[in-house]
Amino acid sequence: MADLQTDVRYIKGIGEARAKALSKLGIGTLQDLIGYFPRRYEDRTMTRAIRELELGETVCVRAMIANDPVASRISGGRTVVKARAVDDSGALDLTFFNQEYRKNSLHRGETYIFCGKVEGNLLARRMINPIVEQEGQQVLTGHIVPIYPLTAGVSQNLLYKAVGQGLTECRHLLADCLPDAVRQEHQLCHSGYAYENIHFPADAEALTLARRRMVFEELFILSCGLQMLRSRRTDVAGPACKAADMEEFYRALPFPLTKAQRRAITEAVTDMESGRPMNRLCQGDVGSGKTMVAAGCVWFAAQSGWQSALMAPTEILARQHYENLAPLFEKFGLRCALLTGSTKARERRDILENLTLGSIDLCIGTHALLTEDVSYARLGLVITDEQHRFGVNQRAALGQKAENPHMLVLSATPIPRTLALIIYGDLDVSVMNELPPGRQKVDTFAVGESYRQRVNQFIRKQVEAGHQVFIVCPLVGQEDHIPDERKAAAAYAKKLREEVFPDLRVCLLHGKMKAKEKEKVMEDFAAGNGDILVATTVVEVGVDVPNATCMVVENAERFGLSQLHQLRGRVGRGQAKSYCILLSEHPSEETKRRLKVMTKTNDGFEISREDLALRGPGDFFGQRQHGLPTLKIADLSCDMALLDEAQQAAKGWMAQDPGLEKPESGALRARIETLFAVKAEGLN
Ligand code: ADP
Ligand code: MG
Repeated sequence: MADLQTDVRYIKGIGEARAKALSKLGIGTLQDLIGYFPRRYEDRTMTRAIRELELGETVCVRAMIANDPVASRISGGRTVVKARAVDDSGALDLTFFNQEYRKNSLHRGETYIFCGKVEGNLLARRMINPIVEQEGQQVLTGHIVPIYPLTAGVSQNLLYKAVGQGLTECRHLLADCLPDAVRQEHQLCHSGYAYENIHFPADAEALTLARRRMVFEELFILSCGLQMLRSRRTDVAGPACKAADMEEFYRALPFPLTKAQRRAITEAVTDMESGRPMNRLCQGDVGSGKTMVAAGCVWFAAQSGWQSALMAPTEILARQHYENLAPLFEKFGLRCALLTGSTKARERRDILENLTLGSIDLCIGTHALLTEDVSYARLGLVITDEQHRFGVNQRAALGQKAENPHMLVLSATPIPRTLALIIYGDLDVSVMNELPPGRQKVDTFAVGESYRQRVNQFIRKQVEAGHQVFIVCPLVGQEDHIPDERKAAAAYAKKLREEVFPDLRVCLLHGKMKAKEKEKVMEDFAAGNGDILVATTVVEVGVDVPNATCMVVENAERFGLSQLHQLRGRVGRGQAKSYCILLSEHPSEETKRRLKVMTKTNDGFEISREDLALRGPGDFFGQRQHGLPTLKIADLSCDMALLDEAQQAAKGWMAQDPGLEKPESGALRARIETLFAVKAEGLN
């Protein structure tokens, strides 16, 4: 008797070699096998008249063999069998390579189903190596057929048969992990039906039902799991903070805070007063003033005697924070320190000592804050800036410098709330949807190659007016056979220096440079030693060059909208009017539509919504190591509504049964434990 944990070799026809090939697809047990979902489906329910076939489409035809098939030898020792099939409407040529047996298995005057891609021309239509089946014995035709992702040594046919057998063996063993109440409320089919029809849909409607159930299930399990992680966190005590009058801090600032800033600070302060550790994401558009939110939290924690650590992704950013915040905190008698890779040994020793003694209230730095020899007397608050540059694990590592410190994450990538709940699942979210008053909008233009001359003249004019210009080149992908980003940016910088702007100072910055070199280039440029900075996307992260007024993006079609928005955020930081020019050589309709979004709005949240709608969440997921389980079947570009529904359902169920202790939560709990088994450590 087989069960879900039985090895796939149990299946007829699967021996050592095939089992090994299957393992590359992550299939080891029968459970893995039936959990291996098709990537797409082909509807082979209907047959079509030959005359109506269009070139290039894959179809089924019911036709009679009109002649005796002819076999011949061709170059390379291959054989080819040719035959002609006809129906009421026309004729179809059939060609089979290396299938000599077709000569004897296809009989003149008999009718078969042929399924394949239509080739040839208007006069003669042809199928090469079609599937051939007899009516009444159809396996791969006559219904909706699953198409599985494959690997070497694993064919569609193999998977098709193996999954079928696996289902027969184990269907009755699949526990339904959705509590019945949830299943009924959301009108979802049973698990067994869903597995059956996700692989072998009875018809289109059954497939829709099955898929809906599977997607819901996946998102529901994930949401419940994330809520469990969150509640586990709220079971422990956080650094105790007493109430404090934030007005005292606000009065010391050079400007009144925006409503959004105040709200974010209030939310964070409420967390810190609650007795539980804060775990909050503060999401705000570029320039929305997240640093002040961080500062407010630091001040608040310090009122209860806690030290804070603020981690930035680069040394320049860390230094910028230090230069902004140190004078502010000095007014309150609070002491700041800057700790980076280039802090001199003596100074470093001094800082480490004072951290251990507790006489430094805020330590700002880079990854250097994570090194083992850094320890704090009373670390109560950990802040990471521009979170997407840090993995969940680094966030966790810094958190380990204290028992259960308050954590605040600042991120400039605005993402829709539902998605934030998945990506940052275990965090509470504050949204800053407002910019400080008086910001001017960056005028944005999307233009084609024919504008090159004018763009160059414009760049020159900006420089002549005393401003600076960024030019961003995309990462060059493998498909261009230039796998190295250096080449694109460096070659372009060279060309500009030699041919276009020989009289201007053109600097170069790319991701393959050593950290120290990058910092040096960036710092020089920020200090005004350079007119044009040609760069890859390394400039994306928040460096302040207020004198830069123009951002040119080459091959803008290669960037996601959210990324373009980040890039654009590098300009418009000073008093002068700023511009963003998006160059794209052969924009497709879709590209045009996307770039137009950029020219129309400066609102990061609106842009991210458009980006999500147009490209799906791949970008959001791809860029960060979020450490969460990957989704097997849900596709968040089209399943957003279902995500919402599943999240609500998860919330409802977890409210009824927070520890998942009811019997009807048993199967759910087991699934969550498997799903998060490997990941739980990083997430906590
Ligand atoms: P980001 O959210 O991108 O990190 P910053 O915190 O760097 O933004 O703030 C951007 C700029 O806006 C800084 O120069 C900061 O001093 C300024 N700023 C922040 N808050 C306000 C405010 N309420 N009013 C005016 N200027 C502000
Ligand atoms: Mg910032």
